[in-house]
Amino acid sequence: VNLYIALLHYPVRNKNGEIVSTAITNLDLHDMARVAKTYDLAGYYIINPMPAQRELAGKIIRHWTHGFGAGYNPNRGEALQMIEVVPDLSDALAEIKGRTGVVPKVIATAAREGQGAGAAGGTISFDAAREIIDSGPCVIAFGTGWGLTEEFIAACDYRLSPIRGKSAYNHLPVRSAAAIILDRLIGER
Ligand code: SAM
Repeated sequence: VNLYIALLHYPVRNKNGEIVSTAITNLDLHDMARVAKTYDLAGYYIINPMPAQRELAGKIIRHWTHGFGAGYNPNRGEALQMIEVVPDLSDALAEIKGRTGVVPKVIATAAREGQGAGAAGGTISFDAAREIIDSGPCVIAFGTGWGLTEEFIAACDYRLSPIRGKSAYNHLPVRSAAAIILDRLIGER
């Protein structure tokens, strides 16, 4: 499938509602890369504007793809090879356009209901998202910290309806949210 995921470390909110850039989390690299590989995605972008953070991500990835870890646990390397580390979402979109000839559609995710995105506004259902994915390259954007800013989401093409669990508690780890969303969008039905 011509589907990508992107994990954004900026622009996200912190617990005080301020717009911040968050730090790379080792778990997010490994676990979301494994999900991306399992669902045969076209790629997984780590978006982080801070050079030292991108360097750190690159170091972790190289350890498992080329360093000692490549021999120790090849499965990890296979998954981490899915990752590209770039400063901004626009870099990912340009790279995908270079590969496919088409600017991909961006589908934002959030735990909360909100204003929506794109010309139409509002949120889209999983069924609608499946059709959009079938019609061309797409990037599903995930947040870190306290989530993607409403301004960022509004500038995306679409906003996916939140996953609703069975309780009022709605704080899924981004790694679980990615797995659930991908299974609903492209998993066996
Ligand atoms: N520190 C947290 C962690 O370890 O995952 C990061 C929280 S971050 C705000 C969680 C991200 O996962 C959100 O930005 C969104 O992309 C996604 N997410 C979480 N809950 C979700 C839900 N109910 N529906 C859709 N996406 C969700």
